[in-house]
Amino acid sequence: MPIDATLPYDDANIFARILRGELPCTAVFRDQWALAFHDINPQAPTHILVIPTGRYVSMDDFSARASDAEISGFFRAVGHVARTLGLVEPGYRLLANVGQDGHQEVPHLHIHLFGGKPLGPMLAR
Ligand code: AMP
Repeated sequence: MPIDATLPYDDANIFARILRGELPCTAVFRDQWALAFHDINPQAPTHILVIPTGRYVSMDDFSARASDAEISGFFRAVGHVARTLGLVEPGYRLLANVGQDGHQEVPHLHIHLFGGKPLGPMLAR
C-alpha cells in the first residue's frame, strides 16, 4: 500500500530497521550520510536503493528539513554508487517515489538506481 508522505517519520519502518542493523541487507556502500543496498525485488539487472542515514519520510521531507551537509553528502553518495557500479558509461535511471500518487511503499526516503540493460521510455505509453 502506498504511504501518506505527510505523516511523521515512523521509526519502525523497514529501512529504519536496516539502518539500525535489525534486518539484513546486501550493502554496496555506507558512509555518514547514506546507505546503498540491493533491492530485494529487483526490477532491472542492477537495482540499488540509496537511503539517507537520517530520519526522512520522503524527498519532500528531506528537501525541507535536511541540513546542507546531509543533502550534499547523500547526493554525492548516489553519484559515487553509480560510478562504482559502472553504471555511468552505459547509462542508468534514478527514481524516487513520493506519497500516494507516486506509490511510495516504504516511508523512508530512498532513491532507486536501475541499470544493466536498456530501460526503455520512462512511463508505459
Ligand atoms: P517504493 O515503492 O519506492 O517505496 O519502493 C520500495 C522498494 O523497497 C521496493 O522496490 C521493494 O522491493 C524494496 N524493499 C522492500 N523491503 C526491502 C528489503 N528488506 N530489502 C531491500 N529492498 C526492500
